Amino acid sequence: SKPTPNHFIRSIAKNDLANGKHEYIYTRFPPEPNGYLHLGHAKSICLNFGLAQDLGGKCNLRFDDTNPEKENVEFVESIRDTVEWLGFEWSKLCYASDYYDHLYNYALELIDKGLAYVDELNPEQMREYRGALTEPGKDSPFRDRSIADNRDLFERMRAGEFAEGEYTLRAKIDMSAPNIVMRDPILYRIRYAHHYRAGDRWCIYPMYDFTHCISDALEGITHSLCTLEFQDNRELYDWILSNITLEENLVGERGKLMPKQIEFGRSNLEYTMASKRKLIQLVNEGHVDGWDDPRLTTLVGLRRRGYTPESIRDFCAEIGVTKRDSTIDMAVLENAIRHNLEASAKRVFGVLDPLKLIITNYPEDQTEFFTVKNHPKDDSMGTRDLPFGREIYIERDDFMLEPPAKFFRLGPGREVRLRYGYAVTCNDVIYDADGNVSELHCSYDPLTAKGQTPDGRKIKGIIHWVSAAQAVDAEVRVYDRLFTEPNPAGADDFIALLNPESLRVYPHAKLEPSVLNADTQDRFQFERVGYFCFDSEDHRADNVVMNRTVSLRDTWAK
Ligand code: ATP
Ligand code: MG
Ligand code: MG
Repeated sequence: SKPTPNHFIRSIAKNDLANGKHEYIYTRFPPEPNGYLHLGHAKSICLNFGLAQDLGGKCNLRFDDTNPEKENVEFVESIRDTVEWLGFEWSKLCYASDYYDHLYNYALELIDKGLAYVDELNPEQMREYRGALTEPGKDSPFRDRSIADNRDLFERMRAGEFAEGEYTLRAKIDMSAPNIVMRDPILYRIRYAHHYRAGDRWCIYPMYDFTHCISDALEGITHSLCTLEFQDNRELYDWILSNITLEENLVGERGKLMPKQIEFGRSNLEYTMASKRKLIQLVNEGHVDGWDDPRLTTLVGLRRRGYTPESIRDFCAEIGVTKRDSTIDMAVLENAIRHNLEASAKRVFGVLDPLKLIITNYPEDQTEFFTVKNHPKDDSMGTRDLPFGREIYIERDDFMLEPPAKFFRLGPGREVRLRYGYAVTCNDVIYDADGNVSELHCSYDPLTAKGQTPDGRKIKGIIHWVSAAQAVDAEVRVYDRLFTEPNPAGADDFIALLNPESLRVYPHAKLEPSVLNADTQDRFQFERVGYFCFDSEDHRADNVVMNRTVSLRDTWAK
């Protein structure tokens, strides 16, 4: 992997260690279990876990689960699995919903201090009372209830005496605060909803702003890293924590310093989309094959596509951490996996769109084996014996009936070298009933084995091939970008921007037999074609299905 990148958050954390503010740093990755993680989350995972690893601290995985209607166990499990797959270990596995009792008690504390009140305004009125950037808000008529009344009403909210929307608990801060977040934000709302973890124990649920800072403080988090849109919420984060009494946090520390919220920029990848609502539409309407469709930049999708954890971590290191949102070129992601697979993938021969080539002067029942390296630059990856015989498959587009001058592959009367094997000359082109080329009849020159040409003649083209007798049949799936526009999420009708050629299936691909000895986790370079892996959903030993992870070179060049 790449060395740990330096960035402004790392500097802050290092500084806090150097000047003794903290003995160790403690971060957390706080996803809401309402969907699958995507590449943007990987940035946050690498940042939080990476920082703790790098500076000798701790990092929790915390489910920020306070919206009962949207969350479920399936998402929790997928997120856990994905964080582990990325190569990280959490110090503690936490759930904000486990803090509901604490949160409720802190709400009572704020009420008792005259810092929270039960309101009856409906959402529309609340919006109206909130004011705007240029105009102060005004106080709710319910703002001055007595502490005793507030306590009574809040306890009855919890007891289920009221309907949804009838009451809310709000912080009592300042309706004319320049920062609108500070204009008496809602702390609790009534929801009669089953929670996947807390069950039906609660009918009031705490808001994000109230939950997050207190969860951080309870866990002893030192640096609470979040994305830029929470900048204005930092003031509220600090207000809540400075107005509650935290005598001892859950890791047993007393008088702990306040966690510090620090914002960083989101990163989004061109030609993709991360919005959960829109992803759900793609999945539900069948535009993609589930959340792990290899064209999606969900982490389960990238994994199925063949991306390695290392390549994702390298990508995150490459894009860095800054104070601005950024849009990342697809080439940055592709180069990360290319770089990784170039070093680690076994080389094999695979023909996606086969055309049969018969070597008419080669003995009918003869098979010979060429011993070839599994990696040109890494002898530790060993060699394999590649079978060769009278009938082979070549890639259909390595042959042209009327090749232009610069085409150095095969054409009628032309000679080409079979990689690792002999030179062959095309003597006859055979057509099927529809007039399509169905076979090439060639002759080979026995003196040209292993790259030799005793007479010194130049053979410019070299093509890959697979021996027909031993070939393994496979379905190969080749992916392209899912959208035709760099920023599909910005369009009104993003469905219209789907790339109709984002998936090309080669149902009759032919692979060299060594792929059957491989582990299902193995990755390959099909020489001259690209990098491939077995499809984790559909591949079986008797029904080989492979995905192209990435092409050999950047074919995106504009
Ligand atoms: P989304 O709606 O895109 O899934 P989110 O912020 O609502 O994003 P959470 O589950 O709350 O999703 O995210 C967990 C963490 O991941 C948060 O700290 C969030 O800031 C961070 N995160 C999410 N998307 C990105 C992104 N594109 N770039 C960087 N960090 C991100
Ligand atoms: Mg969120
Ligand atoms: Mg979200």
